[in-house]
Amino acid sequence: MALSVTELLSDLVSIPSVNPTGGPLQDETYGEARLARFVAEYLTGVGLKPEVLKAPDGRDSVYAVLDAGREETVLLEAHLDTVPPNPDQGDPFTPRIEKGRLFGRGACDTKGSMAAMLTALARIIDSGEEPAVNIIFAAAADEEYGMLGSRALAEKLEGKAGFAVIGEPTRLRMATSHKGVIRWRVTAWGKGAHAATPTLGENAIYRAARLVSAAEEHAESLSTGASHPVLGEGTLSVGTIVGGSGVNTVPEGCSFTIDRRYLPNESLEKVEADLTAALSSAVPPGGWTIERLPSECPPLDTAEDTALVRRIQKALEAEGLDPSAIPLPYATDAAMFARHGIPGVILGPGDAAEAHTAEESIDLGELEKAVGVFRRIVEEGTLG
Ligand SMILES: [Zn+2]
Repeated sequence: MALSVTELLSDLVSIPSVNPTGGPLQDETYGEARLARFVAEYLTGVGLKPEVLKAPDGRDSVYAVLDAGREETVLLEAHLDTVPPNPDQGDPFTPRIEKGRLFGRGACDTKGSMAAMLTALARIIDSGEEPAVNIIFAAAADEEYGMLGSRALAEKLEGKAGFAVIGEPTRLRMATSHKGVIRWRVTAWGKGAHAATPTLGENAIYRAARLVSAAEEHAESLSTGASHPVLGEGTLSVGTIVGGSGVNTVPEGCSFTIDRRYLPNESLEKVEADLTAALSSAVPPGGWTIERLPSECPPLDTAEDTALVRRIQKALEAEGLDPSAIPLPYATDAAMFARHGIPGVILGPGDAAEAHTAEESIDLGELEKAVGVFRRIVEEGTLG
């Protein structure tokens, strides 16, 4: 007897898969390997042949193909990793069901989508109904940090899938666009000296402060800059700052990090050039350096007037849901696939406002509805 979607989600939540966010895999709650193995076993159990794909850092993603001899191939994808548990949260890896909701880390971001996609796949295979398209299911590592899993999958699946449905908590609304993200570390350089003789040194923190102010002014200017019909304007935020070695020393270095969300109609080169110009106006080049951080993700802007997007809209309507597109404030794996010629939409159960919170949860009625939506998207004869 196959697992219900709730039972499957409980199993997924109870296998921790915390993203190490650039650090080491500290203990067995970190990394995606155990969950990838579980998903591979599930796929084998429904009669598919899963492949494990390693990212350059060795982290596991997994995918399987259901070839129905159709012309089109749709990729259903959800990420394996979660953000770390909140220290105040009891046990986030023991799922708890209360008042029709399942609580636990990853419940909505994005193990709910994964459980619904896998259940839809299992039910189609079990029913013997014809898929309307060939289906690839993929579970990706590292969405929450460097998107290493979707980068590897997108390279592997380029030319094999024509469209992607990416599971994220959108309350079962469809998103066709989101901003891209680029991050930098800016380091102001100075000259060390004893704090008693500060004129013998050059204070890197004073320099960094002027650069941070320039970044803030640049951020304010974005609200009247380039604009997108769905996404609005780009944003910029300074996130961290580190500098100095002690109160009695004139600091030699001070670094801060910048997060910039940019639009599909902005070029990354111009985004970077504009920031560099703004910083240069505060402190001449030479007194500071800038480097890109590895967590870059391009923006997404999927055309809505295509047969597959219309099919998704019909699937939503058939489940009594609103088929119109919503903007997404955050970047997703969808952009990685789009960059490799696989355009797509983001769609899944759960509320993004619940994601990354201490009491992450998902409505079980919505989870079951998601199974219906995913099934209708890829199954023949389900759109009336
Ligand atoms: Zn997510």
